[in-house]
Amino acid sequence: MANNKRPGPSAKERMAKPRNEMPLHSAEERIRHFNEVPTGYSLEQAMDEASRCIQCKKPDCIGGCPVGINIPEFLLQLEGGDVAGAAKTIRQNNFLPAACGRVCPQDKQCEAVCIVGKKNDSVGIGNLERFVADYEREHDLDRMPEIAPDTGKKIAVIGSGPAGMTAAYELRVRGHDVTIFEAFHRGGGVMVYGIPRFRLPLEIIDEDLKLLEEMGVEIVYDMIIGRTLSLDDLLETEGFDSVFIASGAGLPKMLGVPGENLNGVYSANEYLTRIYLMHANYFPEHPTPIYQGKKLAVIGAGNTAMDVLRTGKRLGAEVTCYYRRSHDEAPARSEELEHAEQEFIDFKWLSSPIEFIGDENGFVKAIKCEVMELSEPDDSGRRRPVPTGESFTDEVDTVVFSLGCDVNPTIPDSTRDVTTNKWGIMMVDPVTYHTSKPGVFAGGDTVTGGSTVILAMGQAKTAAKYIHEYVMGNFEYELNVPTDPEAPGVQWGFAK
Ligand SMILES: Cc1cc2nc3c(=O)[nH]c(=O)nc-3n(C[C@H](O)[C@H](O)[C@H](O)COP(=O)(O)OP(=O)(O)OC[C@H]3O[C@@H](n4cnc5c(N)ncnc54)[C@H](O)[C@@H]3O)c2cc1C
Repeated sequence: MANNKRPGPSAKERMAKPRNEMPLHSAEERIRHFNEVPTGYSLEQAMDEASRCIQCKKPDCIGGCPVGINIPEFLLQLEGGDVAGAAKTIRQNNFLPAACGRVCPQDKQCEAVCIVGKKNDSVGIGNLERFVADYEREHDLDRMPEIAPDTGKKIAVIGSGPAGMTAAYELRVRGHDVTIFEAFHRGGGVMVYGIPRFRLPLEIIDEDLKLLEEMGVEIVYDMIIGRTLSLDDLLETEGFDSVFIASGAGLPKMLGVPGENLNGVYSANEYLTRIYLMHANYFPEHPTPIYQGKKLAVIGAGNTAMDVLRTGKRLGAEVTCYYRRSHDEAPARSEELEHAEQEFIDFKWLSSPIEFIGDENGFVKAIKCEVMELSEPDDSGRRRPVPTGESFTDEVDTVVFSLGCDVNPTIPDSTRDVTTNKWGIMMVDPVTYHTSKPGVFAGGDTVTGGSTVILAMGQAKTAAKYIHEYVMGNFEYELNVPTDPEAPGVQWGFAK
């Protein structure tokens, strides 16, 4: 399985080498600030870690990456100290490597299928992708791709999250005139207003947006498509030949239990957006406020919940996570859960809120939970929580719901012909990502109902390929856009 012609240690020796752990700020120190938690590999550590790759002849890691990065190739270049070459290799497939190196669920993707991981810890592919991208940025290496001659075709992209940014990049590289329309005053989508600074520093996304603009992509901020301009306007009066919808899934889900409307109860989106986009923690210097309580309850145990818990901790609250299943079923990325556990956060597993209790002024003062136990696995393969009949009440002064999001209805509600299922997820042809409206494609959270940065990017890459064919007049497919309101959203996102 390994490429034995390679000089240096044998595959067996490489497989026996211990993984270079990512250096971190201590938990005691990091909860006092919003700086990034990992401090990054040195060049020597990165080269050593890359040398643990055994260069398999059939590398599963490439297939494990939704955008198909040639992982063995970049690791070989990095092992030899050719960081610029490694950066070029990664960039052939991934336009956002610094973000992906930090937030991708590598433990469930490329690293999960790494052969070294069968005998030892898998190669630290995510940490190395991050190292290469940071080195490239810090050393100001040339990131400008080759751009094909102008095609004269105009394409609108709605939303500047990872799906929108990736589609814009892929379409501009093919020579099209691309405009991104973004509702907020900043670009980056959830990578900017959801994922906290201690996981993904802002300057990384700003650099990627700057590159898009240098490539000639126009970004129009403060423009809600579906309000100021409609999708039909873009196609009928604004002269766009095609539109890619990448407006994400930003409509929070709540539990539907009494007391959810009390003051001090937030959705995760609102809480994080107020802090990271509006700087509410610096009120009144910034105009948007947030209630900074002393006892924060977070409902849910996914990535978003971990971000809220850790943000609340940094704002000085005593923080508790309430989740109806147990630790092993928590959907958060394992590293995020581990970091939250290190940061003195309390976890109440098998606890399902049934009521929020308010004081005489309408502010939340307590949370009542039912104690759960686990029964047989459900459709997701995780064991189903069932009530035990016991309950408990905790005093709290802030509650944040982190139960996932639905797709915002603004675009389908304001447009003819774009169909959704009964949960509001946009329906697309599963091969081309074409919607039910001619010339309109969609990808990312708006078609999955909520997923990951890399899957949104994988879908956008695929959609861009077909948008190119569409505007160039080579689009000949029998489309299969589901019409059944019960049909699920697209569940995958590997670039094809
Ligand atoms: C707190 C949090 C933590 C997360 N952590 C991780 C993680 O660790 N790893 C990971 O891989 N994924 C994570 N995710 C999920 C990931 O961020 C999303 O899957 C990803 O951002 C989806 O990309 P997108 O481009 O489809 O949508 P988004 O990132 O949501 O971007 C959509 C953009 O469209 C804009 N928009 C919406 N409607 C309109 C309109 N009508 N007109 C114009 N613009 C519009 C929005 O303002 C936004 O900028 C996290 C999500 C959250 C909320």
